[in-house]
Amino acid sequence: MHSQDHDRLFLSPPHLGRHEMNYVHKAIEDNWVAPAGPNLKGFEDDICEATGAAHCVALSSGTAAIHLGLILLGVGPGDEVLCPSFTFVATANPILYLGATPVFVDSEAETWNICPERLREAIVDRLAKGKKLKALLLVHLYGMPAKLTEIMAIAAEFGLPVLEDAAEALGSSFNKQPLGSFGKVGVFSFNGNKILTTSGGGALVTNDTALAQKTRFLATQAKDDAPHYQHSEVGYNYRLSNVLAGIGRGQMGLLDERVKRRREIFAWYREHLAHLPGLTVALAPEPAGSRSNRWLTTILLNAPDPAAPPQPAVTPETVRLQLETHNIESRPLWKPLHLQPLFQSAPMYGGAVCADLFARGLCLPSGTAMADAELRRVAGALAECF
Ligand SMILES: *Cc1c(COP(=O)(O)O)cnc(C)c1O
Repeated sequence: MHSQDHDRLFLSPPHLGRHEMNYVHKAIEDNWVAPAGPNLKGFEDDICEATGAAHCVALSSGTAAIHLGLILLGVGPGDEVLCPSFTFVATANPILYLGATPVFVDSEAETWNICPERLREAIVDRLAKGKKLKALLLVHLYGMPAKLTEIMAIAAEFGLPVLEDAAEALGSSFNKQPLGSFGKVGVFSFNGNKILTTSGGGALVTNDTALAQKTRFLATQAKDDAPHYQHSEVGYNYRLSNVLAGIGRGQMGLLDERVKRRREIFAWYREHLAHLPGLTVALAPEPAGSRSNRWLTTILLNAPDPAAPPQPAVTPETVRLQLETHNIESRPLWKPLHLQPLFQSAPMYGGAVCADLFARGLCLPSGTAMADAELRRVAGALAECF
């Protein structure tokens, strides 16, 4: 019998601790039910402490944080922004909000993040074509640090400011430095499926006092310094609620614990799926100096051999559907953005690496509330596919 009667195992559901409710309760008791109040300051301080950033502004989403970050870096109509193709659409949507063009770059196989060689090619080619390159949007996918040494050197060489999309990488580090703190601006997401959550929310971090002030200004409708409502710039309503920041304060206290458990889950899958033919739990090992929060455990399946006679192959989709019969949620890896209808006309440099990852990869349930018995359920269902 299949286990449809089991509770659904989600990919990465929220995992609350014991203290979130106290902060929320206090916000309601004190009537701080607004996008202002003590939980916001507390949450921002917690993020500064965890990331080493001098300033943090809590915002309504990671997407909003990327939008404001691009504005801070001066991105506007007609500009170009370098961006990995292999990422969630929320990385690149704000480039379009600003009337700018994303220039997509392929991944490298060691971290799945933007490839330094392709990046250099792209920069040289765009500059030769007379394009206005304004910024580099750097992503650390599934929590794995990008090749920061090479990439930061290239960005410095060409004078490109870096916006770090660390939405999936809170708690990850490179050479012991927290991700999100490498760029001029760093962004985190506290959406429901991320390693920590405020149900919905985001944060922008920076060491630049002026940029932090500007972020607060833009996020609260860009009110000029006057007793009446006076405005000289376009503003946004992007501040996080003090109630939700209360959830964030409770969650931030759990960061180390949550990273530890995500890493255990990754190691568990690695050990217990090793015998399945053609299946690799990726990415392992971590490159020297890199420590991933292992937000999602991902697997790669062997590429179907085009020379082999047609046979029922094990593909990410057959595996996903098989897990579904056991009421287990899994998801394909991010579909590269250069393959999305939305970005059909955007320039792309390389593309074979991320297209191959998309064709062969799948994300497994990785929520930190999962017990080992539930991991065994996933492993059992996976074994049936082979
Ligand atoms: C989740 C995510 C975002 C967007 O964050 P939201 O808080 O959902 O708006 C941006 N970039 C990446 C890589 C993400 O995974």
